[in-house]
Amino acid sequence: MGQAITRLVIGNWKMHGKLATNQALLEALAAGSMSLSGQCHLGVCVPFPYLAQAQAQLQGSALSWGAQDVSAHLGGAYTGEVAAPMLADFGAQWVLVGHSERRAMHGEDSALVASKAQAALNAGITPVVCIGETLEQHDAGHTDAVIADQLAPVLALGPQALAKMVFAYEPVWAIGTGQSATPDQAQAVHATIRERLAAFDAADRPILYGGSVKADNAAGLLSMPDINGALVGGASLLAEEFLRIAAA
Ligand code: PEP
Repeated sequence: MGQAITRLVIGNWKMHGKLATNQALLEALAAGSMSLSGQCHLGVCVPFPYLAQAQAQLQGSALSWGAQDVSAHLGGAYTGEVAAPMLADFGAQWVLVGHSERRAMHGEDSALVASKAQAALNAGITPVVCIGETLEQHDAGHTDAVIADQLAPVLALGPQALAKMVFAYEPVWAIGTGQSATPDQAQAVHATIRERLAAFDAADRPILYGGSVKADNAAGLLSMPDINGALVGGASLLAEEFLRIAAA
């Protein structure tokens, strides 16, 4: 690796939140993120209805915000969908695309994930492209093949698009299970992702690890050379725990 990539830690609130509790959490995170600046950038991906709250509360702070999904379409008759320019209206800097929960529960395939990534880029939002294998695929030794398949349509968007993306390796078997990948396991997959990105001049893109990251396992994971940060679910709802991950 050439120049160092600034650590990026993003919280995925999933379908959690309430105006009153969000306010306290955002307040604590915004305050805590000030002492991190330079060493780590911190962001939160909130449910759509709370984007306005995040924008109002975080404007001018060191904590950035974004969403957890986006439509591949620019606008039109797509009931229930949210378009990238709408996210941009609320100052979203990030949007998760291809989270395993969307792939599994909403049938999103990698071609759709790539279209969503492009839609986000078109609106000036950084897509965080999530990839990762299931336990069955892991146990069968298919991790590399799964990663290659999931990445293929995204890589096909080309170096110009890739240059503005963030990637997150999230083994499905580690998400919400309390069973994180070991630093060595994660590093091995991150290195292969990095190699694939390098073929498209995108070796310098941040590759986050996600899957049961907690304050007590973050340092080991984040010390690995190809792990540039974390995508954090459950632990991002606890201000102190999330800030400890960022500072690990
Ligand atoms: C996630 O939702 O992306 C995630 C990694 O969840 P958790 O940290 O709870 O495993």
